[in-house]
Amino acid sequence: MQEVIPLRESSDELTYSLTGEDGSAGPYYRDVALLTDEVLVKLHEDQSIAKFGRYIALRKLETWNPDIYALEWLMIGVLWNVYKARATVGSVAAGRLLSSLYSLKSRGREARKAVDRVKGIAGTTVLARHQKAAGCLQLHSLTRLIGWLRASGEFEQESRRLKIWLDFLRGLPGKESAGILHRAVQKASWFERRSLECLGSYTSKVEAYIENNRQRLKWQENRIFCSRERVEYHLNMVGAEIMNRVFHAGFQAAPEKIVFLPICMRNKSAEACRAVQEGPGYVCRRCSKTCRVHAVTAMAETCGSKVLMIPHASTAFGKERIPEGKVGIVGIACVLNLISGGYKARDIGYLPQCVLLHYSGCAMHWHPKGIGTCIDMDRLHAMLEQGEPSSNPE
Ligand code: SF4
Repeated sequence: MQEVIPLRESSDELTYSLTGEDGSAGPYYRDVALLTDEVLVKLHEDQSIAKFGRYIALRKLETWNPDIYALEWLMIGVLWNVYKARATVGSVAAGRLLSSLYSLKSRGREARKAVDRVKGIAGTTVLARHQKAAGCLQLHSLTRLIGWLRASGEFEQESRRLKIWLDFLRGLPGKESAGILHRAVQKASWFERRSLECLGSYTSKVEAYIENNRQRLKWQENRIFCSRERVEYHLNMVGAEIMNRVFHAGFQAAPEKIVFLPICMRNKSAEACRAVQEGPGYVCRRCSKTCRVHAVTAMAETCGSKVLMIPHASTAFGKERIPEGKVGIVGIACVLNLISGGYKARDIGYLPQCVLLHYSGCAMHWHPKGIGTCIDMDRLHAMLEQGEPSSNPE
């Protein structure tokens, strides 16, 4: 990996940015909190969320907050609107084969490389095929959507949650399930318009990035990830805000707290960085005074928290379940990893909160050389110190 370069030399390469001229992300956090309030009111107007909650309780599945169910219902509509043209073509069997391949990634470096090659080819060929008239969302097309999301290798957590919704909908009379799906798509279309008004100024370069990098991303394993649409950024922003509120009390009560940082925050190359491996990540050895990882590590220490630098989002969590209620984590991540990261963390027993990277810039996905990224330090400090949520908890 080459030396990371500062943001100002590469600002035209970015997809999103939370900061304005003064470098502050304060207005972003205010805007996303206001939009989240509005979205939740709008979604809870519909009775299907409460009905889904009763289904979960009756089957003794893990009970979560209704706001998370609302997010999932919205997610069905948003992902359908974005991927319907691709999800409704292609072979179901090929999709199943692809989704089963991804579990081989954990078998080591060589296996991971091979799987990534297949993923890049699939993302440019079978998964990119599309048709113009995808029709309306029905149970069979939701099944295909979930299959496509799994086959893409980018939506493991989301597709698991949507499968629970699919099982719920299958148990309802046809007219009722069709109505719930129809309204999910309507809410998603409203969300696309409204989120663009409220958050569009933070994601104004997404479309240009996709267009300018179309050729470069061909055959790459991250083609689908790096080509995700603006509304998906907005969904993750609102989703992260909802999860921060829902899991806030648990995080605050957890006796142990860990901050997970991405490696794109350090200011040296992999070869020059002195961090030492510990569990799934690396602990900073503070070899550079100007390194942001050093600054976060020092600050977290004053709050009694530990910091682990994580090489890749997919390796952040081990497979072992964490004893319930014991460990709160703050995941620092770029926008597109927020919802999946929150689900994954909760799934293995962590009590998660997240702080967004001000912009994305890692060499693995976004920029040929890598751009040093940063966060709102005051926000992280407040979380670790008092467990403060980003806005009013429920
Ligand atoms: S300060 Fe820490 S993270 Fe930054 S380069 Fe040195 S050891 Fe690596």
